Amino acid sequence: MSKLKNIVGQCQCHCVRTGWGYDSHRLVAGRRLVLGGVEIPFAKGLKGHSDADAAVHAVIDALLGAAGIGDIGQCFPDSDPQYKGADSIVLLRKTQKIIAPQCRVQHIDVTILAEAPKIGPYKQRMRARIAHALDIKVENVNVKAKTNEGMGFVGKKQGIAAMAVATVYKRSQGTAATVPCRKLI
Ligand SMILES: [Zn+2]
Repeated sequence: MSKLKNIVGQCQCHCVRTGWGYDSHRLVAGRRLVLGGVEIPFAKGLKGHSDADAAVHAVIDALLGAAGIGDIGQCFPDSDPQYKGADSIVLLRKTQKIIAPQCRVQHIDVTILAEAPKIGPYKQRMRARIAHALDIKVENVNVKAKTNEGMGFVGKKQGIAAMAVATVYKRSQGTAATVPCRKLI
């Protein structure tokens, strides 16, 4: 019992952090549709300064939230010409590098809200693209998709939204990795 108490005492469970992200973009003609780093054939695409990948933008905001360092607008301002037409997967990779001294990414869960097109056939490729950008295993990235049952801007096909939750281990004193709770299992 005392040994268990000792282990529990050393466990840095409090260093597990989560962050939540949300993004949406308007669907317009004449743009590519890119979601989760995957180009999807569709009559319209999402309007934005970058490639307007709402799913990846939600993941970036979730990660920055978990790290406690602001939001996507602060890191990659849409007033900066270098991000015009940017590949959001590249921005996700940059985000991973920004937070790496403080956090180790454990898990990403994304939900895409789109009335059309069907997202199902692209989910696995999205998982792989996001996982690769973050240097984590594909099984640690989950992508879900829902329609909005005809309601609101998503339901009327005016736009696509995405939400994401990121789980990270916060490193101790900036550089040393924390002890993951699974050591107790
Ligand atoms: Zn966005």
